Formats: sequence, structure tokens, C-alpha cells
Amino acid sequence: MIRWFIILCTIFLMLYTISYGDESKNSDLEKIGKDFYSMKNLGGNVAFLITEDGVVVIDAGTSLSAGKKILNTIRKKTDKPIRYLIVTHYHNDHILGVDAFPEDISVISSEKTKENISNITMKQRKINIERRYPEYIDNMKKKLENMEDKDSKEYKELKNQIKETEEFFKEYKNTKIVEPDITFKDRKTLEIGGEVLEIIHFPNTHTSGISIVYFKNRKTVHTSDLIFNKMFPYIDYEGGGNSTNWIDALEKIKKMDIDIVIPGHGNVENSKKCISKQIEYFKTMKKKIQNYVDKDYSVEKIKSELNLLQYKDYGKKRLYEQNIEAIYKEFVQN
Ligand SMILES: [Zn+2]
Repeated sequence: MIRWFIILCTIFLMLYTISYGDESKNSDLEKIGKDFYSMKNLGGNVAFLITEDGVVVIDAGTSLSAGKKILNTIRKKTDKPIRYLIVTHYHNDHILGVDAFPEDISVISSEKTKENISNITMKQRKINIERRYPEYIDNMKKKLENMEDKDSKEYKELKNQIKETEEFFKEYKNTKIVEPDITFKDRKTLEIGGEVLEIIHFPNTHTSGISIVYFKNRKTVHTSDLIFNKMFPYIDYEGGGNSTNWIDALEKIKKMDIDIVIPGHGNVENSKKCISKQIEYFKTMKKKIQNYVDKDYSVEKIKSELNLLQYKDYGKKRLYEQNIEAIYKEFVQN
């Protein structure tokens, strides 16, 4: 039972990587301020700050090629050395691109994220390569063969999904998982070229190890996956995620002196509105699910009944259902 549960979780993580990774069609570069940029559509949103003494990068994208795109973009803006790469958490769509960066840069994360990379990412990589990706691709191919209407939207979508997964898998096999070499427990201040960055770890929120990066001089925060702007979030329950702690963390972030928010996924915003919206999403979901749990509803019944129309444009249904499952487990297993 447990074994199957782990397999299902891994498959979900693979889907998750592909789902958020397939934003890679247009890697939009956005200027946040002087010598300060964000990049989206490469997996988790990336940011980089060019200072007198070198460049600091936040997260590295969902693949080796995403990492290379980030590097090329930085090189078009400056020839200053890249000094630090801050890795916010262990999910593939934030760390697989690290392999593209020069070996002499310092890769920073929380202690817990480093532990997650060694214990979860590294171990899953071997099994994913040997068995899970090939099986997953085979199953999709069998499903495609059995589809009768070759002109249907579903057929085309599945065909495209197979192609993207095969391309991703090919590169994934050749990508090294890089472990951070500088770690910190709760928070770390980084001073470089007159800029001050506060890296703050919020335990057991999106994952057990996630950190945000506050650019003090710029009144800007990179929240990593504590914010999914106008899309369904992912609560990594098995990786230590918890929606109650997540809300608490967001309440703390909201009190910070912030003009610009770079979310983990979705658009950059020049206000704190997306923080409030993320809090509201979780509070609404928790309240509704609590009501169902009180009535002894099964998780399947909650999934079929709970239909929050205000979030109908937030993305794929399975992510919404995953949120319901995670919050349900929080209620029944605590
Ligand atoms: Zn994540």
C-alpha cells in the first residue's frame, strides 16, 4: 500500500514537473528595476540581480536547457560573474537547470531543502529513469493507440503530451542534480555590491524546506511557490507541505515592506494583492473542506461536490483535486 502510494506521488510529481515545465514556449524576460530581471515560462519563475560585485540568481528552471537559457539571458545583460544561485526548494522545476551553471558559483539553500534534494530528488531520479518514465510513456502510447478518433482534440493533446514527455525525459537522463554547497537553518543575509538580500525559510508550507528571497533595497520579494498567481497551487503533502503553515507564512510576508512580488508561478505584480488572494484561496478551501469533513464526507465525495466557480480559470482539475486531497488529509490525519 505504502509502496503504491509513493509511486503515485512520484507520478504526480512527474506530471507536475511537466505541467509547470511546459510553460517553456516563450521565456519572457521582464525588467523589474535597474539591473533586476525576472524570467517566466522556464518552470518556476526565475529572478536575477546584477550588482557591482556580480550576479545573484534565484532558481534555475525546469531543465538543463532552461538553465542554459537563463545563463544566456544573463550573459546578454552583463559580463559580471555569477556569484550566487539561490535554490528556493527541491522541486524539479526550480532545480534541474542548476546543472547548466558554472561549477565555481555558490549554490545556496536552506538545510532542509538540501536534505530534500539528497533524500527525495536524488533517490527518485534513479527510479524515474529506470522505470517510472519509461512506464509512464509506454502507458500513454498504449492509450493513444486505443483511441479511435484520431482527429479528436484529446488525441492531439495526448500525442503532444507524449512528445513533450519524451523530450523532457531525454534531457532529464543527462541532467545532474546539483546539491547546494552553502546552507542555512532559518534565514541568511546576503550582502553583495551594496544590495542586501534576506533569504527566509518558511518550514512546512509548500514543502518542508522552502525559502523566499527579499531584496531589501528593491522592496521586492521572490516568494517562490508560496504564491501561484491566478492558478491552482500545489500542496506537497508528502514533501512536508501544509496549508495552515502556508497561510501563516503568507500573513508574515504580507506585513513586509514590499512594492513588487515575484511569485513562484504566474505574473509579477506591483502590489501585494496576489498575497491576499493566495491567503483567501486557502482559507476558502479549508473552510469548505472542514464543513464536508464534519459531515463525514469521503474525499472522493468532496471532490465531486466542491466546485468553486471563482477559481474555474485557475488551471487543470487534477491540481484542484490534489489541493482537496492534501487539505482533507490535514484534517483527518492531525
Ligand atoms: Zn514547488
